[in-house]
Amino acid sequence: MMNRNGMVTKIRTRIRTDPFKNIYDLVGRELGRGKFAVVKKCVEKTTGKEHAAKFLKKRRKGQDCRGDILNEIAVLESADMSPYVVALHEVYETTTEIILVLECFGESVPISDGGYENSAAGGEIFTQCVADNDEAFTEKDVIRLAKQILMGVACLHQNNIVHLDLKPQNILLTSAQPLGDIRIVDFGLSRRVDSVSEVREILGTPEYVAPEVLDYEPISTATDMWSIGVLTYVMLTGESPFLGEEKQETFLNISQVNVDYSQDVFHGVSDLAVDFIQSLLIKNPRKRATVDQCLTHPWLSLDLHHLSLEAPLDEQDTSQSESEPESPIPSTDLVL
Ligand code: ADP
Ligand code: MG
Repeated sequence: MMNRNGMVTKIRTRIRTDPFKNIYDLVGRELGRGKFAVVKKCVEKTTGKEHAAKFLKKRRKGQDCRGDILNEIAVLESADMSPYVVALHEVYETTTEIILVLECFGESVPISDGGYENSAAGGEIFTQCVADNDEAFTEKDVIRLAKQILMGVACLHQNNIVHLDLKPQNILLTSAQPLGDIRIVDFGLSRRVDSVSEVREILGTPEYVAPEVLDYEPISTATDMWSIGVLTYVMLTGESPFLGEEKQETFLNISQVNVDYSQDVFHGVSDLAVDFIQSLLIKNPRKRATVDQCLTHPWLSLDLHHLSLEAPLDEQDTSQSESEPESPIPSTDLVL
């Protein structure tokens, strides 16, 4: 069942109305919060298993938003076969709230006062996008993560669902060190695209929204592809391509597709990566690369092995002892 705005409100998960607190203990502080939700770590009493509980108010700004929450649940259900989309475990409803019990990311680290600090780091890829050099992603990392994001988004697009809020805060990592896998979260703005869409009401975060959203033109799967272009840019460079001093400036940068691809920003990054981003940050949504085209882009098959300073032992040359003199240039020379 779907309404005019592309919202799906028919769900198959049974909504429990018995008290959430009978089944789960809340532990630690918040894992995160967004515009309308607070997410807290909880432990299932009978199994000891950790989950993330997303608390959503049914009324926001005096409006009934239960339909929006059902839509979020329906979208999670339709993507449940993708390993790169957060898994939904259970749903509870109280008089004021709906609670989504989700697969949990981010570790609780004990803090000095005896309580627990939940680091959403584990957490959002956002943390590493803004991190200093030694913690920032390498291009090799970004290739692996971009592939996973694309595979998650491919599953949505195959089901005619657009996420519409792809940004670093909504992409979580199963672990930060060593770098784990990604999970896409937050389907609060997601819509079905085989319908007439009222984009006016579903503006995402300015820095990541596509030009057609600003122009109130129809949204499509291409709208997500724009955001993936912005996301990839941020992961590789640590800089947000369209962010201006003020919202208006950001919007102008987006509608003029004013992007800096100079070596200043992209030093040490391959030309193929820049080509990948350029195939997405295109104003006309019909000319943008689709998720399937992106998945076959040569950047994703780029072998950056030679960039690794510690080449695996089995690839080191051990036959040099007898004849030729050793080359003074190590084979792991950085060339890009
Ligand atoms: P909103 O719709 O309000 O933006 P989100 O679903 O994005 O809510 O959740 C807000 C924040 O909570 C996220 O940015 C993330 O930091 C954290 N979070 C969300 N889901 C999980 C989860 N399953 N495990 C750990 N942290 C989460
Ligand atoms: Mg969010």
